Amino acid sequence: MFSRGITKFSSCARPLLTRKSIARSVTYRGFASEAAPGIGFGLTDEQKELQELARKFTANEIIPNAAHHDRTGEYPTEILKKAWEVGLLNLHVPAENGGLGLGVLDCAIVSEELAYGCTGIQTAAEANGLAEAPVIIAGNAAQKQKYLGRMTEEPLMCAYCVTEPGAGSDVAGLQTRAVKKGDKWVINGSKMWITNGGKANWYFVLARTDDKASTGKAFTGFIVDADTPGITVGKKEINMGQRASDTRGITFEEVVVPEENVLGEVGAGFKIAMGAFDITRPLVAAAAVGLARRAMDEAAKYSLERKTMGQPIANHQAVAFMLADMAIGTDAARNLVWKAAWLRDQGKRNTYYASMAKAFASEIANKNAADAVQIFGGNGFNSEYPVEKLMRDAKIFMIYEGTSQVQRLVISRGVLDMAKAGYVY
Ligand SMILES: Cc1cc2nc3c(=O)[nH]c(=O)nc-3n(C[C@H](O)[C@H](O)[C@H](O)COP(=O)(O)OP(=O)(O)OC[C@H]3O[C@@H](n4cnc5c(N)ncnc54)[C@H](O)[C@@H]3O)c2cc1C
Repeated sequence: MFSRGITKFSSCARPLLTRKSIARSVTYRGFASEAAPGIGFGLTDEQKELQELARKFTANEIIPNAAHHDRTGEYPTEILKKAWEVGLLNLHVPAENGGLGLGVLDCAIVSEELAYGCTGIQTAAEANGLAEAPVIIAGNAAQKQKYLGRMTEEPLMCAYCVTEPGAGSDVAGLQTRAVKKGDKWVINGSKMWITNGGKANWYFVLARTDDKASTGKAFTGFIVDADTPGITVGKKEINMGQRASDTRGITFEEVVVPEENVLGEVGAGFKIAMGAFDITRPLVAAAAVGLARRAMDEAAKYSLERKTMGQPIANHQAVAFMLADMAIGTDAARNLVWKAAWLRDQGKRNTYYASMAKAFASEIANKNAADAVQIFGGNGFNSEYPVEKLMRDAKIFMIYEGTSQVQRLVISRGVLDMAKAGYVY
């Protein structure tokens, strides 16, 4: 009979790598620009090294601790500190601000590996990337040095505050307002579902600054220090999955922000906030691929161990074909992720592909997790085995950073634009 112990969470030794030694051994800058033109599915030697680093970190630091953080909801502070030390956090921060200046494809490789271990911990790490993206896109030199530079000097977290209790998909419906008073801005409003909300050192905040303007000009992006008077952080939300991640509501009451913290121009906030998704949606999708891959691996291993009717269940075609479908989905999703990331790194518009990658990978993650539970049978439904966590963790990929329906709005608009233009697909 199958032993209930075999496929439980495993533990590994600590890594010997440090942030400095990695930076010395790998030339990070320019990965993407080294990518060959035309069709190519290989990684550069540097990307393979980065992948190996993230994979080892996941095996040593994330997998052994994932169940604990899922069960307790405890924020993975120590793991994030170690990730920062080895150079696996804040990957996009430009070299001139003390960062590694990696491309989106490089970051996708890391996201997939960290997510393989625990998407809750990976989401906590990646929320930094989401908050930093608007600053990278639109920040001036002083803002970048102050707020991105700080992230490379110590292991800090930051958060992206756009969603509100009354407006998620409908970003145009945001009610948080910023009013100019003298040479300062005063922000009032409530944000909801903010990842890293209770752990952030600073926030990117999108607020309405012009009631009469069209959506594209009605909002402004601000960088707000988390210790500014008037900010109240809500309780940690108890979510279905990704429980290591810290999700909270944040209230802004007469929060005074200096003019120098306006990102880009007044009225440019909507474009900046949405533009960040071209960088981050491929990374959310990469994390979903990591979860899909984990589900496939766990299910394949289990199917070789578990016997019914005198043979491993892997020998039953109904089970083997589920594994085949899991592999097809994982690879197809990863190819979409890499295409969306690669386009961005080439300086090309990737919004359409970023949405495709996000929609497809998040749905594959859910399918693979559900199929893995099916292959585990009764054990799959039990929290002593890793796959029920995968099923709970997977759902949010279809919701945050734009629901699957919102991605299809973006994609269908693209399809129709191409049809109108007579574009041959
Ligand atoms: C765990 C977690 C972490 C999050 N982290 C962050 C964060 O760090 N920062 C942040 O700003 N936000 C964050 N969010 C918010 C997240 O991005 C929103 O929840 C998401 O965009 C959906 O918005 P909503 O919840 O208001 O759902 P709604 O917009 O109310 O949507 C409800 C349903 O209606 C559908 N729908 C809505 N409009 C349309 C339409 N036009 N066409 C078709 N279908 C439609 C949706 O797809 C969905 O199925 C997080 C959310 C969660 C749960």
